[in-house]
Amino acid sequence: MNILIVYAHPEPTSLNGSLRDFSRYQLESQGHIVRISDLYEMNFKAVADGNDFSERKNPSQLNYLLEQMNASKNKSFSKDILFEQEKLDWTDFIIFQFPIWWTETPAILKGWFDRVFALGYAYGPGTYDKGKLKGKKAMLSVTHGASSLNHYGEYGLKGKLEERLFNIQHEKLYFSGIEVLEPFIFPSTAPLEVRNNYFELYKNKLLNIFEEPAIPFHPLSHYENGQLVQEFQK
Ligand SMILES: Cc1cc2nc3c(=O)[nH]c(=O)nc-3n(C[C@H](O)[C@H](O)[C@H](O)COP(=O)(O)OP(=O)(O)OC[C@H]3O[C@@H](n4cnc5c(N)ncnc54)[C@H](O)[C@@H]3O)c2cc1C
Repeated sequence: MNILIVYAHPEPTSLNGSLRDFSRYQLESQGHIVRISDLYEMNFKAVADGNDFSERKNPSQLNYLLEQMNASKNKSFSKDILFEQEKLDWTDFIIFQFPIWWTETPAILKGWFDRVFALGYAYGPGTYDKGKLKGKKAMLSVTHGASSLNHYGEYGLKGKLEERLFNIQHEKLYFSGIEVLEPFIFPSTAPLEVRNNYFELYKNKLLNIFEEPAIPFHPLSHYENGQLVQEFQK
Protein backbone atom coordinates (compact mmCIF):
# COMPACT_ATOMS: atom_id res chain seq x y z
CA MET A 1 0.00 0.00 0.00
CA ASN A 2 1.02 3.62 -0.49
CA ILE A 3 1.33 5.54 2.76
CA LEU A 4 1.92 9.26 3.24
CA ILE A 5 3.21 10.55 6.59
CA VAL A 6 2.46 14.23 7.08
CA TYR A 7 4.89 15.32 9.79
CA ALA A 8 4.77 18.63 11.63
CA HIS A 9 7.53 19.22 14.20
CA PRO A 10 10.42 21.69 13.95
CA GLU A 11 13.04 19.36 15.48
CA PRO A 12 14.04 16.11 13.71
CA THR A 13 15.48 14.56 16.92
CA SER A 14 12.25 15.15 18.90
CA LEU A 15 9.91 12.46 20.14
CA ASN A 16 7.69 13.23 17.14
CA GLY A 17 10.71 12.81 14.86
CA SER A 18 11.36 9.38 16.46
CA LEU A 19 7.73 8.38 15.94
CA ARG A 20 7.91 9.44 12.28
CA ASP A 21 11.09 7.36 11.73
CA PHE A 22 9.67 4.45 13.75
CA SER A 23 6.43 4.28 11.73
CA ARG A 24 8.29 4.60 8.43
CA TYR A 25 10.57 1.69 9.42
CA GLN A 26 7.68 -0.51 10.64
CA LEU A 27 5.59 0.14 7.53
CA GLU A 28 8.44 -0.32 5.04
CA SER A 29 9.30 -3.60 6.82
CA GLN A 30 5.77 -4.75 5.99
CA GLY A 31 6.39 -3.96 2.31
CA HIS A 32 4.44 -0.69 2.14
CA ILE A 33 5.76 2.30 0.18
CA VAL A 34 6.13 5.35 2.42
CA ARG A 35 6.50 9.02 1.46
CA ILE A 36 6.89 11.84 3.95
CA SER A 37 5.73 15.44 3.84
CA ASP A 38 8.09 17.01 6.40
CA LEU A 39 6.38 20.39 6.61
CA TYR A 40 9.12 22.26 8.51
CA GLU A 41 11.89 20.85 6.34
CA MET A 42 9.90 21.86 3.25
CA ASN A 43 9.39 25.30 4.81
CA PHE A 44 5.75 24.77 3.89
CA LYS A 45 3.87 28.06 3.60
CA ALA A 46 1.16 27.96 6.26
CA VAL A 47 -0.70 31.12 5.30
CA ALA A 48 -3.50 30.99 2.73
CA ASP A 49 -3.49 33.95 0.33
CA GLY A 50 -3.77 35.00 -3.32
CA ASN A 51 -0.32 33.59 -4.16
CA ASP A 52 -1.83 30.10 -3.84
CA PHE A 53 -3.16 30.36 -7.41
CA SER A 54 -1.16 30.59 -10.65
CA GLU A 55 -4.15 32.28 -12.33
CA ARG A 56 -7.07 34.06 -10.72
CA LYS A 57 -10.73 34.00 -11.70
CA ASN A 58 -11.12 37.39 -10.07
CA PRO A 59 -7.77 39.21 -9.83
CA SER A 60 -9.32 42.33 -8.30
CA GLN A 61 -10.86 40.76 -5.17
CA LEU A 62 -9.81 37.57 -3.39
CA ASN A 63 -12.58 35.13 -2.52
CA TYR A 64 -10.43 32.22 -1.37
CA LEU A 65 -13.09 29.50 -1.73
CA LEU A 66 -14.09 30.61 -5.23
CA GLU A 67 -10.45 30.69 -6.31
CA GLN A 68 -9.95 27.20 -4.82
CA MET A 69 -12.91 25.94 -6.84
CA ASN A 70 -11.48 27.51 -9.99
CA ALA A 71 -7.98 26.15 -9.32
CA SER A 72 -9.36 22.65 -8.67
CA LYS A 73 -10.98 22.74 -12.11
CA ASN A 74 -7.95 24.13 -13.91
CA LYS A 75 -5.11 22.65 -11.81
CA SER A 76 -3.99 26.23 -11.28
CA PHE A 77 -2.86 26.00 -7.66
CA SER A 78 0.67 27.07 -6.76
CA LYS A 79 3.30 24.35 -7.21
CA ASP A 80 3.63 23.50 -3.50
CA ILE A 81 -0.12 22.81 -3.23
CA LEU A 82 -0.16 20.74 -6.43
CA PHE A 83 2.77 18.70 -5.09
CA GLU A 84 0.89 17.87 -1.87
CA GLN A 85 -2.29 17.04 -3.80
CA GLU A 86 -0.30 14.72 -6.07
CA LYS A 87 0.92 12.87 -2.95
CA LEU A 88 -2.68 12.66 -1.71
CA ASP A 89 -3.81 11.27 -5.08
CA TRP A 90 -1.07 8.65 -4.78
CA THR A 91 -1.66 7.56 -1.19
CA ASP A 92 -4.04 4.95 0.23
CA PHE A 93 -3.41 5.91 3.83
CA ILE A 94 -2.26 9.07 5.59
CA ILE A 95 -0.61 9.27 9.00
CA PHE A 96 -0.49 12.72 10.61
CA GLN A 97 2.38 12.93 13.12
CA PHE A 98 2.35 16.04 15.31
CA PRO A 99 2.41 17.37 18.88
CA ILE A 100 -0.73 18.91 20.36
CA TRP A 101 -0.17 22.67 20.51
CA TRP A 102 -2.87 24.75 22.14
CA THR A 103 -5.25 21.78 21.81
CA GLU A 104 -4.76 21.74 18.00
CA THR A 105 -2.27 20.96 15.27
CA PRO A 106 0.83 23.17 14.99
CA ALA A 107 -0.03 26.15 12.74
CA ILE A 108 2.04 24.78 9.85
CA LEU A 109 -0.24 21.73 9.65
CA LYS A 110 -3.40 23.80 10.02
CA GLY A 111 -2.14 25.84 7.05
CA TRP A 112 -1.52 22.63 5.12
CA PHE A 113 -5.21 21.75 5.56
CA ASP A 114 -6.33 25.30 4.67
CA ARG A 115 -4.39 25.28 1.42
CA VAL A 116 -4.22 21.61 0.30
CA PHE A 117 -7.68 20.31 1.30
CA ALA A 118 -9.22 22.72 -1.18
CA LEU A 119 -12.84 23.15 -2.19
CA GLY A 120 -13.35 21.19 -5.39
CA TYR A 121 -10.30 19.03 -4.70
CA ALA A 122 -10.93 17.46 -1.26
CA TYR A 123 -14.64 18.19 -0.91
CA GLY A 124 -17.48 19.88 -2.69
CA PRO A 125 -20.06 19.49 -3.87
CA GLY A 126 -20.06 16.26 -1.77
CA THR A 127 -18.97 16.24 1.86
CA TYR A 128 -18.52 13.66 4.66
CA ASP A 129 -19.25 10.17 3.26
CA LYS A 130 -19.56 11.81 -0.15
CA GLY A 131 -16.30 13.78 0.10
CA LYS A 132 -13.87 13.67 -2.80
CA LEU A 133 -11.11 11.80 -0.96
CA LYS A 134 -13.39 8.82 -0.31
CA GLY A 135 -11.57 5.50 -0.47
CA LYS A 136 -8.58 6.73 1.55
CA LYS A 137 -7.93 6.15 5.23
CA ALA A 138 -6.08 8.22 7.80
CA MET A 139 -4.89 8.16 11.39
CA LEU A 140 -3.63 10.83 13.77
CA SER A 141 -0.49 10.01 15.74
CA VAL A 142 -0.18 12.75 18.34
CA THR A 143 1.88 13.51 21.42
CA HIS A 144 0.60 15.63 24.28
CA GLY A 145 2.30 17.30 27.20
CA ALA A 146 -0.19 16.99 30.06
CA SER A 147 1.83 16.71 33.26
CA SER A 148 -0.32 13.86 34.53
CA LEU A 149 -2.02 11.19 32.46
CA ASN A 150 -5.15 11.93 34.53
CA HIS A 151 -5.51 15.37 32.96
CA TYR A 152 -7.17 13.96 29.86
CA GLY A 153 -10.34 11.88 30.16
CA GLU A 154 -13.97 12.16 31.07
CA TYR A 155 -13.36 13.85 34.43
CA GLY A 156 -9.93 15.24 33.53
CA LEU A 157 -9.02 18.91 33.79
CA LYS A 158 -8.45 19.11 30.03
CA GLY A 159 -11.45 17.01 28.98
CA LYS A 160 -11.28 14.14 26.53
CA LEU A 161 -8.47 14.43 24.00
CA GLU A 162 -10.72 12.71 21.44
CA GLU A 163 -13.07 15.72 21.70
CA ARG A 164 -10.16 18.07 20.91
CA LEU A 165 -9.36 15.90 17.90
CA PHE A 166 -12.95 15.91 16.57
CA ASN A 167 -12.31 19.04 14.54
CA ILE A 168 -9.48 17.29 12.69
CA GLN A 169 -10.86 13.75 12.50
CA HIS A 170 -14.49 14.59 11.73
CA GLU A 171 -14.40 18.14 10.37
CA LYS A 172 -11.37 17.90 8.09
CA LEU A 173 -10.67 14.23 7.28
CA TYR A 174 -14.13 12.66 7.35
CA PHE A 175 -15.57 15.91 5.93
CA SER A 176 -13.43 15.17 2.85
CA GLY A 177 -14.59 11.55 2.66
CA ILE A 178 -11.62 9.94 4.41
CA GLU A 179 -12.21 7.07 6.83
CA VAL A 180 -10.43 7.70 10.13
CA LEU A 181 -8.90 5.14 12.47
CA GLU A 182 -8.71 5.61 16.24
CA PRO A 183 -5.83 7.99 16.99
CA PHE A 184 -2.55 6.92 18.53
CA ILE A 185 -2.03 9.17 21.56
CA PHE A 186 1.40 9.33 23.16
CA PRO A 187 1.87 11.01 26.57
CA SER A 188 5.24 12.72 26.09
CA THR A 189 5.83 13.42 29.78
CA ALA A 190 5.35 9.81 30.94
CA PRO A 191 8.33 8.03 32.56
CA LEU A 192 10.86 6.40 30.21
CA GLU A 193 9.59 2.84 30.67
CA VAL A 194 6.04 3.96 29.86
CA ARG A 195 7.31 5.84 26.78
CA ASN A 196 9.19 2.73 25.62
CA ASN A 197 6.02 0.70 26.09
CA TYR A 198 4.13 3.17 23.87
CA PHE A 199 6.55 2.43 21.02
CA GLU A 200 5.58 -1.27 21.40
CA LEU A 201 1.89 -0.32 21.37
CA TYR A 202 2.45 1.76 18.23
CA LYS A 203 4.26 -1.13 16.54
CA ASN A 204 1.25 -3.38 17.17
CA LYS A 205 -1.16 -0.74 15.88
CA LEU A 206 0.89 -0.26 12.71
CA LEU A 207 0.92 -4.02 12.10
CA ASN A 208 -2.87 -3.98 11.82
CA ILE A 209 -3.75 -0.60 10.36
CA PHE A 210 -5.24 -2.01 7.19
CA GLU A 211 -7.49 -4.39 9.16
CA GLU A 212 -8.51 -1.95 11.90
CA PRO A 213 -12.11 -0.72 11.52
CA ALA A 214 -12.63 3.02 11.06
CA ILE A 215 -14.35 5.20 13.66
CA PRO A 216 -18.08 4.79 12.88
CA PHE A 217 -18.95 8.38 12.04
CA HIS A 218 -22.53 8.78 10.89
CA PRO A 219 -23.22 9.04 7.14
CA LEU A 220 -25.09 12.12 5.90
CA SER A 221 -28.22 10.01 5.45
CA HIS A 222 -28.49 9.84 9.26
CA TYR A 223 -28.98 13.63 9.46
CA GLU A 224 -31.88 15.92 8.65
CA ASN A 225 -31.12 19.66 8.47
CA GLY A 226 -27.83 19.00 10.20
CA GLN A 227 -29.46 17.13 13.11
CA LEU A 228 -28.80 13.47 13.84
CA VAL A 229 -32.10 11.61 13.42
CA GLN A 230 -30.95 8.03 12.95
CA GLU A 231 -28.65 5.84 15.02
CA PHE A 232 -26.68 2.87 13.68
CA GLN A 233 -28.67 -0.38 13.62
CA LYS A 234 -27.44 -2.73 16.40
C1 LIG B 1 3.14 26.08 21.61
C2 LIG B 1 2.84 24.84 22.42
C3 LIG B 1 1.54 24.59 22.82
C4 LIG B 1 1.25 23.43 23.54
N1 LIG B 1 -0.05 23.17 23.87
C5 LIG B 1 -0.38 22.01 24.47
C6 LIG B 1 -1.76 21.65 24.74
O1 LIG B 1 -2.68 22.38 24.41
N2 LIG B 1 -2.02 20.47 25.33
C7 LIG B 1 -1.00 19.61 25.69
O2 LIG B 1 -1.29 18.53 26.22
N3 LIG B 1 0.31 19.91 25.45
C8 LIG B 1 0.63 21.06 24.85
N4 LIG B 1 1.95 21.34 24.57
C9 LIG B 1 2.97 20.36 24.91
C10 LIG B 1 3.33 19.51 23.67
O3 LIG B 1 2.21 18.75 23.26
C11 LIG B 1 4.50 18.59 23.99
O4 LIG B 1 5.60 19.42 24.26
C12 LIG B 1 4.79 17.66 22.81
O5 LIG B 1 3.73 16.77 22.61
C13 LIG B 1 6.03 16.84 23.07
O6 LIG B 1 6.44 16.26 21.84
P1 LIG B 1 7.93 16.49 21.29
O7 LIG B 1 8.12 15.67 20.07
O8 LIG B 1 8.19 17.94 21.19
O9 LIG B 1 8.73 15.84 22.52
P2 LIG B 1 10.22 16.02 23.00
O10 LIG B 1 10.33 17.25 23.85
O11 LIG B 1 11.18 15.86 21.88
O12 LIG B 1 10.33 14.73 23.93
C14 LIG B 1 9.44 14.48 25.00
C15 LIG B 1 10.08 13.42 25.90
O13 LIG B 1 10.25 12.23 25.14
C16 LIG B 1 11.62 11.80 25.20
N5 LIG B 1 11.95 11.12 23.95
C17 LIG B 1 12.39 11.66 22.78
N6 LIG B 1 12.59 10.68 21.87
C18 LIG B 1 12.30 9.51 22.50
C19 LIG B 1 12.31 8.15 22.11
N7 LIG B 1 12.69 7.79 20.87
N8 LIG B 1 11.94 7.19 23.00
C20 LIG B 1 11.52 7.53 24.25
N9 LIG B 1 11.50 8.81 24.69
C21 LIG B 1 11.88 9.79 23.83
C22 LIG B 1 12.41 13.07 25.43
O14 LIG B 1 13.67 12.80 26.04
C23 LIG B 1 11.48 13.82 26.38
O15 LIG B 1 11.62 13.35 27.70
C24 LIG B 1 2.28 22.51 23.88
C25 LIG B 1 3.61 22.80 23.50
C26 LIG B 1 3.88 23.94 22.76
C27 LIG B 1 5.31 24.20 22.32
